Amino acid sequence: KPLLEIRGLTAVIAESKQQILKGVNLVINQGEVHAVMGKNGSGKSTLSKVITGHPDYEVTGGSIVFKGENLLHMEPEERSLAGIFMSFQSPIEIPGVNIVDFLLMGYNERRKKLNEPEVGPLEFLQILSSKLDLVNMKSEFLGRNVNEGFSGGERKRNEILQLAVLGADLAILDEIDSGLDVDALRDVGKAVNGLLTPNKSILMITHYQQIFKIIEPTFIHIMDDGRIVKTGDIGLAKVLDKEGYKSFSVP
Ligand code: ADP
Ligand code: MG
Ligand code: MG
Repeated sequence: KPLLEIRGLTAVIAESKQQILKGVNLVINQGEVHAVMGKNGSGKSTLSKVITGHPDYEVTGGSIVFKGENLLHMEPEERSLAGIFMSFQSPIEIPGVNIVDFLLMGYNERRKKLNEPEVGPLEFLQILSSKLDLVNMKSEFLGRNVNEGFSGGERKRNEILQLAVLGADLAILDEIDSGLDVDALRDVGKAVNGLLTPNKSILMITHYQQIFKIIEPTFIHIMDDGRIVKTGDIGLAKVLDKEGYKSFSVP
């Protein structure tokens, strides 16, 4: 049984009713890494936001089933509790809020919903320390405030740390490689790899193929005009490299 099954998904912008997704089909099984590529404006971010239930969009047709349940009947929060994690292309800055406090808040919020006892700051620091190695981060980083003055690499690290702490069966990573230099890209890629276990799945949106040297995709999808127009394995990346997106455009 697939982890995530999207069939004929159509969606509009809630405010203007402009159609963005025009029939997306996508099946993700446990342990698979799916990369979504495509021109700017092809609907990649919209697809990931619709999966998480972002209020800016309205689903007008099709289905999304996650672990056998109809995701479209679930609130964004329920989707996250069900095991979907999403990192945003433009994460928000939360001035004055320390990373540890922020992560602890999210961690305890989740535990409360799951009827598990909350953990205190000291216990949490231990949990966090065990994750730091996994995502290849120094403990000094924990002294920072959320996204305040973060470099692109630090933002991504913070997201991956959040993913490591909260855990997820499906991690949706939008523009995983944007704004990263080669070193940061390698670090973030390694961090994501550190979290990959045979039962975790990833949907990553990317513009560059360098990341595939670090996180090997099971499938690459090309999106154009609100649809997935081509799916292939790593070989598709080589075709893209030579021909660009033009040969994959909806006529
Ligand atoms: P991608 O991530 O592939 O670059 P997006 O999903 O962000 O593409 O956007 C797809 C199209 O929908 C773009 O033309 C974008 O301007 C438009 N769009 C997406 N979300 C909104 C929104 N909330 N309001 C207005 N236009 C939007
Ligand atoms: Mg874009
Ligand atoms: Mg985008």
